[in-house]
Amino acid sequence: MKLADLIRTYDETGTLPMLPQGHYIDGAFHPASDGARMDSFDPGRGTVLGSFAAGGAEDVDRALASSQRAFEAWRDVPPATRCRILNDVAALMRAEADLLAVVESLDSGKTLAEAQGDVAGSARLFEYYAGAADKLDGRSPDLGGGTVAFTAKEPVGVTAHIVPWNYPTSTLVRGIAPALAAGCTAVVKPAETTPFTALLIADLLVRAGVPAGVVNVVTGTGAQAGAPLVGDPRVRHVTFTGSVGTGIDVMQRVAPNVTGLTLELGGKSPLIGFADASAAKVADGALWAIFSNSGQICSAGSRLIVHRSLHDQVLSELVARAQKLRVGHGLRNPDMGAVNSDLHLSRIAGHVDAARARGLEIVTGGHAVTDPETGAGWFYAPTVIDGVPQDDDAVQQEIFGPVLTVQTFDDIDEAISLANGTDFALNAGIYTPDITTALRVARRVDAGQVTINDYWAGGIELPFGGNRKSGFGREKGLEGLEAYTRTKSIAIAV
Ligand code: NAD
Repeated sequence: MKLADLIRTYDETGTLPMLPQGHYIDGAFHPASDGARMDSFDPGRGTVLGSFAAGGAEDVDRALASSQRAFEAWRDVPPATRCRILNDVAALMRAEADLLAVVESLDSGKTLAEAQGDVAGSARLFEYYAGAADKLDGRSPDLGGGTVAFTAKEPVGVTAHIVPWNYPTSTLVRGIAPALAAGCTAVVKPAETTPFTALLIADLLVRAGVPAGVVNVVTGTGAQAGAPLVGDPRVRHVTFTGSVGTGIDVMQRVAPNVTGLTLELGGKSPLIGFADASAAKVADGALWAIFSNSGQICSAGSRLIVHRSLHDQVLSELVARAQKLRVGHGLRNPDMGAVNSDLHLSRIAGHVDAARARGLEIVTGGHAVTDPETGAGWFYAPTVIDGVPQDDDAVQQEIFGPVLTVQTFDDIDEAISLANGTDFALNAGIYTPDITTALRVARRVDAGQVTINDYWAGGIELPFGGNRKSGFGREKGLEGLEAYTRTKSIAIAV
């Protein structure tokens, strides 16, 4: 079905007939072992989109047994063949991009354009790691006469991927694409509010030539399906993206098995505008740093730190633009879509209501809204809070919604101190035409990635990840392969 037909079908029926129904294990869909099911909602309407299997330990066990069997064969598939298959996956993803993007938009609430970008980026991730599959070479150090030695890169084994709801497709793919390229297999647990694209992608992989069992998907809650998966000794690496609290819980569950772990947790990332920057450029950068994906991005620029002399101009431009943003159902492609669930909407509202009660100035927004066409759905108005002290919760806690705090600074040391003054260290944006200032700040700011004069500069070729409570380990880039390989040294006496 093409884009227009998919949208028409959804408008007429409130669902899509091709939404998967069960877990994807060993190349086929299966109901939960106890038959349990859950609903997933369209946040743009607040209505049920479809239902899916609510899995538990028994389903996880089946999926792990399948992935363990598949690993024994997949690890020996010639790298050149893995490369070809992953390129075929990318091509099939592009061919089926309309379906994936519509389902992603409906299940998460994001705009169709954002979902289309995520699907295109995910196809590109498969291509990128396809190109790496046959280049995982070892070394041959010179040990002098009498010994010949070499190192080999081996796949770690079965990997687990716990995926959040803000980027269901791209977070999944940035984990499984390098895992598969390295010769690992994967069991995936998508978020309980966004299960469908992971299931569609698992089926797409098999149709593109990935052997059954190499990627299995078990749907359900974190407690029922996620916890038994990450705590199973058959899993040799866990890639987790989500909240700090759950990340710490996952660390404790993997510890007894000494399982490898990549943690991609939250952020409270600063965007610093220096006095010599263009106010319009800073305002535009801040606008999309916080309001893209309705602010539900771990690396969102949620703290604007602006030089005192530029503050009034930036704030007035930013507020004027924020007030013009069109908010609405994702499939109509407004500027900003829904937030992912009614629970999450109440979390965002709770943060802002508390800030208001503390006497902070909500310059714009500060309340929930509905889709202007239907009067339904879970939306939050683009919100800017000015003059926030550094120790205030609005600056210290991740709100994970369209809420920006604004602070001022007088000199470079103060800017860096404010930027580094939270528990998080994921992203940082720097706006100044002075490259010396930009590079001085880039060196001193604590963040996994820094962008200069464009908050979202970068690409999948660059490693991505955080420090401190933002997590550890790197995804994307060639560094993204490291979690899925281990080095073996072999020495031969001659
Ligand atoms: P969460 O961390 O609870 O959920 C993320 C994923 O972990 C989901 O798939 C969930 O089912 C799974 N999970 C939950 N408990 C688990 C367990 N014990 N073992 C294994 N897996 C488990 O996030 P949430 O409750 O959906 O959102 C809460 C907050 O998390 C948000 O407000 C936001 O601050 C943050 N968050 C961050 C990201 C990110 O990209 N870093 C993504 C989503 C949410």
